[in-house]
Formats: sequence, C-alpha cells, structure tokens
Amino acid sequence: MQPNTKLPKVGTTIFTVISQLAAEHGAVNLGQGFPDFAVPQRLVDELARAMRDGHNQYPPMTGIPALRQAIASKVLRCYGGEVDPDTEVTVTSGATEAIFNAIHAVVRAAEEVIVLDPAYDCYEPAIELAGARAVHVALDPQSFAVDWQRVRDAITPRTRMLMINSPHNPSGAMLDQADLDTLAGILRGTDIVLLSDEVYEHIVFDGRRHESVLRHPELAARAYVISSFGKTYHCTGWKIGYAIAPPALTAEFRKVHQYNTFTSFSPAQHAFAAMLRDEPEHDQQLGAFYQAKRDRFREQLLSTRLLPLPVPGGYFQLVDYSAVSDLADAEFAKWLTVQHGVAAIPLSPFYATPPAGQRLARLCFAKNEATLDAAIERLVKL
Ligand code: PMP
Ligand code: GLN
Repeated sequence: MQPNTKLPKVGTTIFTVISQLAAEHGAVNLGQGFPDFAVPQRLVDELARAMRDGHNQYPPMTGIPALRQAIASKVLRCYGGEVDPDTEVTVTSGATEAIFNAIHAVVRAAEEVIVLDPAYDCYEPAIELAGARAVHVALDPQSFAVDWQRVRDAITPRTRMLMINSPHNPSGAMLDQADLDTLAGILRGTDIVLLSDEVYEHIVFDGRRHESVLRHPELAARAYVISSFGKTYHCTGWKIGYAIAPPALTAEFRKVHQYNTFTSFSPAQHAFAAMLRDEPEHDQQLGAFYQAKRDRFREQLLSTRLLPLPVPGGYFQLVDYSAVSDLADAEFAKWLTVQHGVAAIPLSPFYATPPAGQRLARLCFAKNEATLDAAIERLVKL
C-alpha cells in the first residue's frame, strides 16, 4: 500500500544523513550535536542505583515529584521565577517530545505558527501534523538577530503560536531583555501562545545572562518554556526534558503527553533529581566549561581559511567558508565530510528559503580536545 503521506517535505534528517556519511568515510564528526565526553560519574551511579532500588515501573505521568520539585528549585535559583512543581512542571522524553506536545496541545488545523529561520528541524513537522501551517520569518543572515517588525507583520488572526529559541541552534545567538520586552509588546492583547526552546540555557559565554522567558512574568504567563537535560548533563541519548507553563497551559499539555508517551524513563528521572538536589553547581559551571572549548577551537580555526562567526551561547561554531569554496552549503558539507574527513552541518535545511549566497557551515565543539585537534589537522589543509 502506498500511503498518502502527511509529511511530503520530510526526509531523513540532515543530522542522520551527515552522521552516516561521516561513519562511511571515517570523518571526524563535528556535525550532529552531541558531546563525545563522559556523563558526570555521579549521574551514572545514581542511574544504576535507581535501577537497583527498583525504580523500574511506570513513574507518575507528570514526572516524579522529586524531579519536578528539583526543576522548580532550579528555576527559582537561576531565574528568580516561582513555578509550582505540581501544576506547572511536566517531565518529558526529551525537548522534542515537549515541543510536539505543546504544539498539539494548543494549535488547531488551519492555524498558523510563526517560526524564526533558521529553525530547529523538529518544529515544522509537528506543526504540519497538527494540520497547521508554519509561517517563516528569517533572522538576520549574519547576526541572527530577530527583526521584530517582520514578526509583527507576520501575525494574522490565525496565528496561534510563536516559537523562539535562545541560545539559538544553529547560530548561538541569544535574545536579550530588550528582545523579550519587545516581544511582550507584540503579543500583548493577542491570544498567541509562546513556545520558548531553551535547551542550551546553561551554555552561555562571556558573562552574558541567559534571558529565560521565566524571568519575564508577562511572557511566562502565555508560554511553554522547554529544556532538556541532554544538553546540560552531556547525555543526549537519555532523552529527558521538561516543559514549564502556567496551570491552564500545562493541563492541556499533559492531555497530549498522557497519550503520546504517558511517562518518561524512570531511572533517569531519579538520577537527575539527585544531581539537581546535590550538585546544583553543575549547571553554573557549564558556561565556563564550554567557553574554554569554544575559545580553544576558535583560536585553532584562525590557522584555517574558515572564518568563525561570534558564538554567544550553545555548543556550535558557525564558519564562513567562502574563502575555501563557492559550493552551496549542502554540497559543501558533503564535500568536507567525504573529501576532507570533517563532518559539518549545512544551514539550508533549517530554512524555508535559505538566504541567497549564504556560505555557512555548523561545527559542534562539544568534543574532547583530541577530536577537535584531529578536525583542525584536516581543516588547515583546506
Ligand atoms: N531544540 C533544540 C534547539 C535542539 O538543539 C535540540 C537537540 N539538539 C532539541 C530541541 C531536542 O532536544 P532533545 O534531544 O532533548 O529532544
Ligand atoms: N539537536 C541535534 C543537533 O542540532 C541533533 C539531534 C538529532 O539528530 N535529531 O545537532
């Protein structure tokens, strides 16, 4: 049987395509975003302990109380925001599930969701499965700043949701307080729900503060704020994340979560609850940990013909490769992987309409020094 596809535009994700190509050609994989260093030992010990202690059956649908409480305490510590662990915090199977749930909780067929391009790849398919339409507003192609006038112009009576992501994947750009104030002004008086993807919330550099929507009461009152332990604890394969939203939005979110996954991997919830409770400094040290990697990698890139763009947050380095090649980015990423043994991610798959002539590739620096050194050794030959 040939099904009438619901997602005609969807193929295999660029991350999988490039990772497979990297494996086939023995390339150093700076493509797909994942750390190649160890998870904190304490977390592994707590996970093993949770399994030995018998936490192996369905946990509560909303997440175990200790973890929801620990998340609420973290939000208070980091952003000064009071959230109720019982009515405002839901643990999910990664940020991806939380994003899917939030969209399906509030977006109806024929409605519109504004996404800012380049946008993370799981947004649009979830919008389309809801029968809705993604309305794409491009960020500045160099600075990746938001042009709020263009956002304002994109709003129609059908707009149900607006999605933001800071620190931003793939650029690392961050929203500041003025951005959030402007956004609050734009949304005031509308019934548009905000989805704030903050999975890189603790990976911020140069003393800059992450402007979580949870710091902004007016926006938080209409927002799903989504994060992921995968980024903060170097364990992208564990797939535990969470969504924070006011009680009414959370109630709708949980209706989807309840019948999507119902609940998420119990031992990991216990492990994260223990980590957050006993080692709250972990997330505070993450910025410095990654800043050292970023600075070393950028210094090394100076010996190549790739031009590094600024990286305010996140663990991706964008490079302008126009001194090396005039290939379009998807071709360039494949050429770099196959011919030069370094896997990178092109930006065009993150766009509805990629900016003409953009010559940028994304390199992940969440890697051991040896991995980055091996990549640089190849990149200097370009
Ligand atoms: N949003 C962004 C911006 C991401 O980069 C990622 C993962 N790289 C996700 C969401 C998904 O997170 P998770 O792996 O927890 O599903
Ligand atoms: N979020 C990761 C990235 O941006 C990839 C996750 C995935 O492979 N779906 O690289």
